[in-house]
Amino acid sequence: METPPICDYEGSDYQQRFWEAGGREYEDAAEEVALRRLLPPSGKILLELGAGAGRNTPRYAGYHRVVLVDYSRSQLEKAQEHLGQGSGFTYVAADVYRLPFVGGLFDGATMIRTLHHMADARRALAGVRRVMQKDGVFILEYANKQNLKAVLRFMVGRQRWSPFTPEPVEFTALNFDFHPATVRRWLRASGFGVERQLTVSHFRMGLIKRNLPLGLLVWMDSLAQLSGDLWQLSPSVFVRCRAMGASDPVEGNAFFCCPACGHSPLADTPPLISCPSCHSSYPVEGGIYDFRVNSH
Ligand SMILES: [Zn+2]
Repeated sequence: METPPICDYEGSDYQQRFWEAGGREYEDAAEEVALRRLLPPSGKILLELGAGAGRNTPRYAGYHRVVLVDYSRSQLEKAQEHLGQGSGFTYVAADVYRLPFVGGLFDGATMIRTLHHMADARRALAGVRRVMQKDGVFILEYANKQNLKAVLRFMVGRQRWSPFTPEPVEFTALNFDFHPATVRRWLRASGFGVERQLTVSHFRMGLIKRNLPLGLLVWMDSLAQLSGDLWQLSPSVFVRCRAMGASDPVEGNAFFCCPACGHSPLADTPPLISCPSCHSSYPVEGGIYDFRVNSH
């Protein structure tokens, strides 16, 4: 099957530019509040999709093991610098459309500021469901096209696309905003139950951010988040989903599967992991498993 185009942060200074120097303390703190409200405080093995440089990873400290997945190897190297190579972390460069894990492996998963870059979001969500245990919890964040600013701009004729229609809007290349009803429909079709929604970053406007103290902004946002099940008009929405129905049983210590053909178990022969079925091989370098199918 053809893979949709991928937004690759290879070599990007995103973490430094956007988060550390970009005046995003408010957004970061508002996300922390939402995550604390939605994610069970402890668990066995959590999949962090689009982990980037590991900004959120310390928030998953109650999990026995965290598997960080990103398409960009250089982002994972930054995460390693930040978090260390401790036994609790596994670093995997992989394509979200071909996750290299056996089915039913994870009891927790998060995907934050990542769906935003998915040309085929529905397919990505179905892939997440495949690797989750029954009753596992998946926290999804997505960018909401029906946000208050887009609604107002549309109503006064300063924006051509409608915030009310179900299709995603690609406002720049490989950057998508989604309609909340569409995301809920995709989640349900993928085998997730939608348990709770929080609206986040209500006050993401330069004028407000410059003139109100950070603590007050975060407090106001944490209150406004609670109406997330009633309406969604914020630029960011967090959803807690539960994996419904049956999941594949995990056999023995099986962990990785071949992203090219789906076979498991793979032969672990450092510095390569190889597939006995289709003979693809995947390098393991500097503590990073590289399962990107088209990159080597
Ligand atoms: Zn294979």
